[in-house]
Amino acid sequence: MNEQDFTISPIPDNIFAKMQGKSYKDNCTVSRDDLRYLKVLHRGFDGRTHTGELIVNKMIAENVLDIFMKLYNEGYQIEKIRLIDEYDADDEKSMSDNNSSAFNFRYISYSTTLSKHALGLAIDINTLYNPYVKNVDGRRNVEPANAEKYTDRSVEFPHKIDHNDLCYKVFTEYGFEWGGDWEHAKDYQHFEMPDEWIEKSLCRKM
Ligand SMILES: [Zn+2]
Repeated sequence: MNEQDFTISPIPDNIFAKMQGKSYKDNCTVSRDDLRYLKVLHRGFDGRTHTGELIVNKMIAENVLDIFMKLYNEGYQIEKIRLIDEYDADDEKSMSDNNSSAFNFRYISYSTTLSKHALGLAIDINTLYNPYVKNVDGRRNVEPANAEKYTDRSVEFPHKIDHNDLCYKVFTEYGFEWGGDWEHAKDYQHFEMPDEWIEKSLCRKM
């Protein structure tokens, strides 16, 4: 492993161009300067080393790099880490392909609240095996739609994130909150920085 295999940089022009109208929409309230482009190595489901790309908030860029370095060093398998723009910023498309990603300027499903993904402060891992399960108007909703068989978390299967999983341990060590611990919904793929942390970090900057 080389130091250059894990890098943080401002968003390059060619990447920013690709994001336009996709993850970076016209009404985006986050500036390009607040975001960083990360390159990481990860161990794929084929056991081999792959390169991944992520966009995250600059406030967590160093930590996220450390997290992916630890996961790689421990051989933790993540199938794909591609920019969501390759899926036209369509979350369902990305999740059904088991893609792991971070920044996307969007609202929480079935709400008008900005998702932490919109701030680059949330990351989804192995999304097909770790779906988002929510009851909407009495109806059970699973995202991605092809993840139904992974909603029973009492069953053992590969790539399942739970409290014993390394991914859970490493992300929470860096202060992330896990969507699998939520009461109102279960978002097993999702790690985000809590509001209290964000407020504190913003105060420190001023
Ligand atoms: Zn998420």
